Amino acid sequence: MTSVPHWPQPWTAETFVAVYDADDKLRYASAAFKHLFQLDSVDATMTFDDLIKRGALRNCGPRIDCGVVISFIAEMQKRRRQQAGQRCFATDTLDGGWYWMTETVLENGWIIVIGSEISPLKHLELTLTKAHSEALNEARTDFLTGLPNRRHILSYLDILISTLSGSHNAQTPLSIAVADLDRFKSINENFGHLVGDDVLRDFAHLARTTTRRSDVIGRVGGEEFLVVMPGTTTDDAKAVLERLRRAVEARLVPVKGGSVVRYTLSVGITQVSPADSVDGAIGRADASLYKSKKLGRNRISVDISVDA
Ligand code: GH3
Ligand code: MG
Ligand code: MG
Repeated sequence: MTSVPHWPQPWTAETFVAVYDADDKLRYASAAFKHLFQLDSVDATMTFDDLIKRGALRNCGPRIDCGVVISFIAEMQKRRRQQAGQRCFATDTLDGGWYWMTETVLENGWIIVIGSEISPLKHLELTLTKAHSEALNEARTDFLTGLPNRRHILSYLDILISTLSGSHNAQTPLSIAVADLDRFKSINENFGHLVGDDVLRDFAHLARTTTRRSDVIGRVGGEEFLVVMPGTTTDDAKAVLERLRRAVEARLVPVKGGSVVRYTLSVGITQVSPADSVDGAIGRADASLYKSKKLGRNRISVDISVDA
């Protein structure tokens, strides 16, 4: 978890004030405003546009996200004098500050701008948002391999199955594969649990790099993985898993002392239908996996009980 930053106490918020006349010329600027825009004094010929352009050249004033000063000014001007009254918004500045802005347009066309610094609040908000998304990511990720964990990959499959029943997707095939590392217990027994962990990480890396972008692989058990392949027939799924099977077979995982570990995997594939439940579909893939194990391991079996 990201820790919440400690802000220096006491925090003294800056508030700045600026006044523009009906021709958009800067007529008054408080000391804080002058400091923000690096102004020595208020020059009665300087307009809002001049001020923004000058700030962009000197690297001070508001942060301009699009990077194009003219577009930023045009966008601001569109809103600035749209109607008499007040508008409020948050803005950030090039020195990393955040301000809550209140712009009041008077009946005579003059504008009073008040900016109250909200940097600590805004930075806290950004930190909490980041911490929240990191926590969410952690809750979905398998700690050892960095792959989606069981809960996440199963709920992804569940969502995909529910979209299959929509008429738009009725013809879109969805295949899944259950992949299980062979005789993994003996790898642990012969080389130790830590080497077993290295093999699991090695497999996760290979799986990520060998499968296609649209294929999602998650760790559903100790040495058991689920590959979800949207828009894929069982023939195509078999080709994807065959590529992975060969890559695994050719792998030499280095072990302390200079030796290497080889490992293999067995796979069961099935096509998922709109009427399937997650458990039902995985049950069929498991039955095919069992067949691969029985036939001698290091192979792929495809379930043919469901019409493609
Ligand atoms: P099979 O070919 O039939 O799949 O044999 P297997 O030995 O792979 O299967 P089995 O289910 O008998 O053993 C799986 C082993 O995986 C047992 C367990 O200790 C090990 N395992 C499960 N999770 C982890 C883990 O996170 N790290 C390590 N190193 N081993 C694990
Ligand atoms: Mg196994
Ligand atoms: Mg297993």
